[in-house]
Amino acid sequence: MNVLWLQSSGCGGCTMSLLCAEGPILFDRLADAGINLLWHPSLSLETGAEARALLARVEAGEIALDVLCVEGAIARGPRGTGRFQMLGGTGRSMLDWVRSLAAKARHVVAVGTCAAFGGVTSAGENPSDACGLQYEGAHSGGIFPASFRAAGGLPVINVAGCPTHPDWVSETLMLLAEDRLGAQDLDALARPLFYTRHLVHHGCPKNEFYEYKASAVKLSDIGCMMENLGCIGTQAMGDCNIRPWNGSGSCTRGNYPCINCTAPEFEEPRHSFTETPKIAGIPVGLPTDMPKAWFMALASLSKAATPERLARNAVADRVDVPPSLRGKTAGAAQTKGRK
Ligand code: SF4
Ligand code: SF4
Repeated sequence: MNVLWLQSSGCGGCTMSLLCAEGPILFDRLADAGINLLWHPSLSLETGAEARALLARVEAGEIALDVLCVEGAIARGPRGTGRFQMLGGTGRSMLDWVRSLAAKARHVVAVGTCAAFGGVTSAGENPSDACGLQYEGAHSGGIFPASFRAAGGLPVINVAGCPTHPDWVSETLMLLAEDRLGAQDLDALARPLFYTRHLVHHGCPKNEFYEYKASAVKLSDIGCMMENLGCIGTQAMGDCNIRPWNGSGSCTRGNYPCINCTAPEFEEPRHSFTETPKIAGIPVGLPTDMPKAWFMALASLSKAATPERLARNAVADRVDVPPSLRGKTAGAAQTKGRK
């Protein structure tokens, strides 16, 4: 399966993330799946005239294009010309190239939230008029209309994430190589369900704190970050805590709140990323699939029942009170000794 990768308006972080694939490493993973990376601007040897010649052959249909991967948003400015971002040496805008090559591709994959929805590149005043391939924020229709379908019958496949997890990209490509990714395998935002059928909250090491509403008050604390520090892992789609990054990491495992980077418009939450907006002291962004009244009732109950261990550990930067062994006091003695 031939894959061509273009880097558009973004930071290149999704490629950096992709290179963190391990077990096996990226290149073995692709080779084992029969995936031929025709060209990638950062990873391929071909540059300049060689790269341009290859693009021309793909565009002319001389080389079959199975998957066009686009990383980064597409700059549409000024005035819809796309000339704010040119593909070096070709005299043509990235907008023009992506449109032309997408028409040749069996599948089009948006790698990362910028390519999918506009992401950070489209934040603020967005002077470059950047948008996603088939979405502008949460609204369908980017440089391609909502009705766009690639030759293989699918819309742009949005492997969203900022950056996206290396496995999300490689698994998507492997499924496409085996012809095992259909419309039924995408969610309502055209993200592959294999990673968006989970919430970031699933598998978070802070779940025990969450259950008792034992909350962190500053970023180094090990308690749950939902109440005070802006974590929206209970609403964010992603298997980040089930399929850790680089073998063991995730945002919440690193004591940073989940900011829902797999979703459109995460980049402008209208408040600090590390602050939970509240009305009358109650967080506004409660889990979406639970009645608010029930949540409030259960939260106050569990807060009243918070074990001393969790209440104290939640506001410490490491385990202060270890779990006790029934009938033994060694843990408490050790803790006192450490202090
Ligand atoms: S920190 Fe976030 S993801 Fe982790 S348990 Fe709390 S709400 Fe869930
Ligand atoms: S934990 Fe949240 S912010 Fe972090 S990568 Fe996953 S979805 Fe994005």
